[in-house]
Amino acid sequence: DRASRNGVGASGLKVSFEFFPPKTEAMEETLWASIERLAPLSPSFVSVTYGAGGSTRERTHATVARILQETSLKPAAHLTCVGASKAEIDAVVDGYAETGVRHIVALRGDPITGLGTVYQPHPDGYAQASDLVTAIRRRHPEIEVSVSAYAERHPESRDWQTELDNLKRKVDAGATRAITQFFFDNDLYSAFLDRAAAAGINIPIVPGIVPVINFTQTAKFAEKAGASVPAWFAARFEGLEDDASTRQLVAAAVCAEQVFDLVDRGVNEFHFYTMNRADLVYAICHLLGMRPAKADGVEALSALSPRERVG
Ligand code: FAD
Repeated sequence: DRASRNGVGASGLKVSFEFFPPKTEAMEETLWASIERLAPLSPSFVSVTYGAGGSTRERTHATVARILQETSLKPAAHLTCVGASKAEIDAVVDGYAETGVRHIVALRGDPITGLGTVYQPHPDGYAQASDLVTAIRRRHPEIEVSVSAYAERHPESRDWQTELDNLKRKVDAGATRAITQFFFDNDLYSAFLDRAAAAGINIPIVPGIVPVINFTQTAKFAEKAGASVPAWFAARFEGLEDDASTRQLVAAAVCAEQVFDLVDRGVNEFHFYTMNRADLVYAICHLLGMRPAKADGVEALSALSPRERVG
């Protein structure tokens, strides 16, 4: 039906999935197996990240192009400002437009010198994400632009005023959706929504959800990204360092707990950081009431490749 083609399943919820471009053939296989598994859930879009400092420029493009060619999913290409001139970035954007990409996640990016070091804009580049949003919308008004948001503030931001001013600038530049950095404490997200609303920010702020496949790794990444890990959350994974199968079950339960609580708070759209793995995210979506489009239905067919449809 029309609703499910627009990414709204019978559950009334919308989901999107984030992937990273694969480095090796084996990783490419894992990614595509995951995309095939998740596609029948009719996500609103699937996004593909851009490696730090633009290191995956070609691979991001290739992955997005393959999604466009072989599936009916709507890809969103991440793009960052770091380490490239305006002309180089514009060329990437034009390339996407030509390939048929109609959604870009516009970001500043982390310093090339590593997380935690001071960000230096490229001398001829776009300095902040808001500048990139302006440029994309000016060159290609047909391209939808999403941006980042931080329920716990960006690690570099001085205060809430700076943070909200920055998000507002991105909205004024033409962004129509914000996706948050992951968080584990839903109260912080709710408080952020209130602050954003009070600041006159009225685009959807979609929670970014990370299923915790490996707690130790996630905790390390969270520290760098400025996402707090509450003690009660850490306690759920305690003692499971060498017990991958229990960890997997606990991860599903913990993530389900988080998304159900968000649903109770009125959230109806989720962005999942999949790490290119389908199982946990598929299970959470199932619990949320999402079901694959029926095998004999138009939506299921449309999720398959043109080749498969013909054959
Ligand atoms: P911006 O929105 O530009 O803001 C960065 C900081 O600068 C904020 O603290 C802001 O308050 C401050 N600021 C902005 N303008 C001003 C101003 N005029 N004066 C003072 N302060 C200002 N990174 C990648 O490399 N590749 C990816 O694919 C990627 N995908 C991401 C997806 C999501 C959903 C999220 C949340 C993050 C992603 N990141 C990615 C990480 C992101 O690049 C980093 O968090 C980066 O440090 C900030 O980028 P931004 O777009 O959030 O920056």
